[in-house]
Amino acid sequence: MTVKAILLDLDGVLYIGDQPLPDAAWAVRRLCESGFKLAGVTNTTTQSRHTITEKLAEMDIPLAEDQIHTPAALAMARIGNKSARLFVRGELREDFSGVREDENQPDFVVMGDIGGEGYPPETLREIFLHMMNGTQLLALHKNRFWQKPDGLHLDLGVFVAAIEYATGRKAEILGKPSADFFHGICRSIGTDPAQTLMVGDDVESDIGGAKDAGLKTALVQTGKYREDFVKQTGIRANLVIPSIADLPDAIKLL
Ligand SMILES: [Mg+2]
Repeated sequence: MTVKAILLDLDGVLYIGDQPLPDAAWAVRRLCESGFKLAGVTNTTTQSRHTITEKLAEMDIPLAEDQIHTPAALAMARIGNKSARLFVRGELREDFSGVREDENQPDFVVMGDIGGEGYPPETLREIFLHMMNGTQLLALHKNRFWQKPDGLHLDLGVFVAAIEYATGRKAEILGKPSADFFHGICRSIGTDPAQTLMVGDDVESDIGGAKDAGLKTALVQTGKYREDFVKQTGIRANLVIPSIADLPDAIKLL
């Protein structure tokens, strides 16, 4: 079945930090001209959709705000009119406007990236105590580590796992690799998962998650890609390409 839509992970695929990857803008434009439906799919919870869109525009990458999908939108839908305690960076709060916040007895705790080197022990204890009181944990993603310009850093998943271990209860994971997340995006852009290609640098979240959700997959060897780690997971993508610049040609092989 031919691919009609392409979901692009952003960080590590189109750019690293504030640096666009070589020919990323060119490749996205070519895919767009070839008639593929495109969407940006990111677990980044440090920036609002608006900021992400501005950054892409500066890099000349043609993806509009309504083409960017983040876990925050899914969290908003899950919380509805219930209350929540939000652990997200100031900037992401604009994606949570209208949420009823409660510091004492929230229905949900939302764990996102909070900056620095992650969650301090006193914050983890606060979340732990809420959970022991019956609060439900929503994690915007559960990535193990991420790539910054100075190397690999612990990611949100490490802290989510600590809470799960302490409480014996599972968090609800809203971003990649959740199948609900991938299916929701396919629905919103009007494409069948089997005719959709997910492109990413994270073999577990991007590739493993999309495969489990029934999508086709392309792993790029940029960003957090590490050959050893990929082998260790045993997860195989339909395509493995040096970078996004190779996708316009490689996609013909699918
Ligand atoms: Mg990535």
